[in-house]
Formats: sequence, C-alpha cells, structure tokens
Amino acid sequence: MRRARKTRGKSVPFSPSLDVNAWLAENPDALITCPSQPGNLKLLPSACVKRHQAANEPKWSTIGAEPFHLFVFKMNLVACRNCAIGARLARETKVMAA
Ligand code: SF4
Repeated sequence: MRRARKTRGKSVPFSPSLDVNAWLAENPDALITCPSQPGNLKLLPSACVKRHQAANEPKWSTIGAEPFHLFVFKMNLVACRNCAIGARLARETKVMAA
C-alpha cells in the first residue's frame, strides 16, 4: 500500500499557540536562568539538576577527544561541573526525595 505523498513547501509552518511570555508571567518560578550557558538559557530546575549530575559522573572524566560526539557532549557539560546553582538544586532535590 502506498502512502499519500506529503506536499512540501506549501503547508503553513508550525507555530506553537502558547504565548511564552504570558506563560512565564504566570509561572515565574517554573524556569531558572542559567548564567553559564549561552543565549540566556532558561531551563527547568530538574533539567539543571540532571546536567549537574551528568557533569559530575566519573565516566565523563576519562573520555578524551575521541569519539568526537562524546567529546562535544562532555565539553557541553563542563560549565555544570562546579556550578553552585546546580549543586544547590541537586541538594534540594535529594532533600525533597528523602
Ligand atoms: S548546572 Fe549550572 S551551568 Fe549547568 S545548566 Fe544548571 S545553572 Fe547552568
């Protein structure tokens, strides 16, 4: 059975219906602003905790420049390794889980 062919270039590009600025005004504590990542990155505190924990996993300390995709991933986490914000949120998450 053949699938119907999708038309390309004629469809309206997807645009989310959520007004991000209005949502942020209603939920000011939902996201934190990372001071170390480029572009004034806003992320969930849980995502920040995951990055901090991943950055401090011992397996990332032994990886060199090869393979390149792991090297890029590791370098992306360097700023999170000694980050005070990530450490504080990780501590708070552990306290809340206990
Ligand atoms: S751990 Fe620090 S550097 Fe990493 S995302 Fe969180 S605030 Fe940003």
